[in-house]
Amino acid sequence: MSIAIKNSRVRIAPSPTGFLHIGTARTALFNYLFAQNYKIRGDNASFILRIEDTDQERSKKEYEEDILNGLNWLGIEWDEGPTLHGTEKGNFGPYNQSKRERKLKSYSNYLTQLLKNGKAFACFCPSSKEEIEDKNNDKFHILCPYKDMAYNPDETRQFVIRYKNTYAEKLEERFKKGGDAFKTNEDDYVTFQDLVRNKISSPKDILGHFVIAKSFDEPLYNFAVVVDDYEMKITHVIRGEDHIPNTPKQLLLAEALGWAQVDETGVFQAPWTYAHLPLILGTDRSKLSKRHGATSVNEYKTLGYLPEAMVNFMALLGWNPGDEQEIFSKEELAKEFSLEKIQKSGAVFDTVKLDWMNGEYIRRKSVEELTALCIPFLEKAGLIKIQNAKIKSQHYNPKLKIDEYVNRILALEQPRLKKLSETGERVNFFFQEPEYDKELLRWKNMSDEDIKKALQKAEKLLSVINPPIDKKTLEKAFFDEIGDSDKGKLLWPLRAALSGKKASPGPFEIVEILGIEESIKRLEQAEQKFG
Ligand code: GLU
Repeated sequence: MSIAIKNSRVRIAPSPTGFLHIGTARTALFNYLFAQNYKIRGDNASFILRIEDTDQERSKKEYEEDILNGLNWLGIEWDEGPTLHGTEKGNFGPYNQSKRERKLKSYSNYLTQLLKNGKAFACFCPSSKEEIEDKNNDKFHILCPYKDMAYNPDETRQFVIRYKNTYAEKLEERFKKGGDAFKTNEDDYVTFQDLVRNKISSPKDILGHFVIAKSFDEPLYNFAVVVDDYEMKITHVIRGEDHIPNTPKQLLLAEALGWAQVDETGVFQAPWTYAHLPLILGTDRSKLSKRHGATSVNEYKTLGYLPEAMVNFMALLGWNPGDEQEIFSKEELAKEFSLEKIQKSGAVFDTVKLDWMNGEYIRRKSVEELTALCIPFLEKAGLIKIQNAKIKSQHYNPKLKIDEYVNRILALEQPRLKKLSETGERVNFFFQEPEYDKELLRWKNMSDEDIKKALQKAEKLLSVINPPIDKKTLEKAFFDEIGDSDKGKLLWPLRAALSGKKASPGPFEIVEILGIEESIKRLEQAEQKFG
């Protein structure tokens, strides 16, 4: 069921208490795609980034920056919210909760309203076992958990503010009357319509008098989120399924503030509609965690995944276009996206699939683009340096300019590469003399003598080759020599001597890039390993 609303406004509300998590990024992407889809269809829609930083102890600027940078890297642009330059965009700011309280007194005003209307109460109950056991502390004798107390601003003792769940008292009365009292009725539940899971109901009594603020200017999540969603005119709350247990509390608070009501069918109607996204699971089907590998967006960047691949991959975590297509550009995703196609069951984060997809995107790059992307990884691996925007490195083929040399190396790797971070390890022999054990040169059960002869033969063939030094010429020269015999006997020692690796591109492609002189030099060095 989709509700067509003009001027849709969706948001993500991450807490800057950690680096941008894959789960948050997926939620951001779905909100972004939802808004983009409306825009494509000619409607006004906005995607808002709001920073939930009321928890002053755990919130850090560094995490906020990581969230902004991560979303920016993924190309998930927000229409309103804090910007990378430290300013804000949008007409509903401030977009940090801490600033909303400072500037607008957003939360304290509504808390006062709730207290005045008797929908909330200040509670001085002990909050920990130790406190409860501390019988000598007389502040705890003033009030028992569920008793009202008027708010007194001069009160210096520690208190929290709780939502007053009058339902618990009503239930007690019904029970006292007996009879039909034990039959549940609609009023016993908070019921809401979810765009992914349809109707969701949860009993009111289990919610108790839940805490909504630690103090007047320290609102807690369930309360602050309702105030913000209302004030920012949010129309759809699209977020992770782990927030389903919070939704009844948020609806009760919206009701207490006069923003939501129960309709004639017993369903809560709020200014916004909910859509809860399935959890992201590891391959063992437990909730995705550090145990399964990287969980922050930045880690994926460092590992050499491309933002396009991440976006494509994350879009399929719980959303399915309904056909076999797997590769989608951001624009195609925005065009196809709809909440109806979100699945209810958990979405498995399959790294093998991500690697495959990343490879697909790597292959779509031009060689120049790929080189530009790989340069930081080659630098990190210590293979090249960038000085005055120029590549500096050891390079062995004087016939090729350094840029061309690097481009050709990466073009050679492009068909196999899965992650940019693999590049250094895969191509280091083009920038350094390879180091390896002589056993690497042995094909099957060749004797030392045979290997040495093979290396000498390869050297001889290379030394008489006529330009152009390309794969075709090299293949012809070597295959004419090999004839019907086992080609591994000549080509394995050659390839191993050039690359120093068990697995690498073929020997002719390597010779093409390294050049004849360097290739011959490496063959000679290999021969020396046999005395
Ligand atoms: N700060 C919450 C989170 O990051 C926001 C949840 C919501 O969207 O309501 O999970």
